[in-house]
Amino acid sequence: MKKHKLETYLEVYDSISELPDTIQNLINKAQQARDNAYAPYSHFKVGAALQLASGVIITGNNQENAAFPSGLCAERVAVFHAGSNYPGETILHLALTVKSSHKEIDTPTPPCGACRQSLAEYEVEQESPIAIYFMGETGKVVKADAVKDLLPLVFDSSFLE
Ligand code: ZN
Repeated sequence: MKKHKLETYLEVYDSISELPDTIQNLINKAQQARDNAYAPYSHFKVGAALQLASGVIITGNNQENAAFPSGLCAERVAVFHAGSNYPGETILHLALTVKSSHKEIDTPTPPCGACRQSLAEYEVEQESPIAIYFMGETGKVVKADAVKDLLPLVFDSSFLE
């Protein structure tokens, strides 16, 4: 038996202002999208904004449903829009922010497991990393250089060959 250690390095920024203007702009777009989320059940609004290599920014927010599993997370709303409207275009970064009506969230909130899997599909296909920036409503911003850093041992198309 051998033990393998998996390591991930994340960058932690004390505030949005430490980030480059392009990323601050992307986070602003994610915040705007977040505030339009449809979250009448959880009151937990999530906004995502991703930037394509062409410069196009695509946003998404969580869309809940009375039949709970029918809803969808912000990240997947955004990345599926990118995949359906800009097929084959490279995604450079994705910004993610959350807001609750119950309390101010200052803990950086990462994508859920299902979103990591969905995002990984695009990262594997485009053969270049998608940087993920995630935060709460306020406070620190965490950057992962790639989806694979948040999803080690990714299941991808290579297993289906
Ligand atoms: Zn999710």
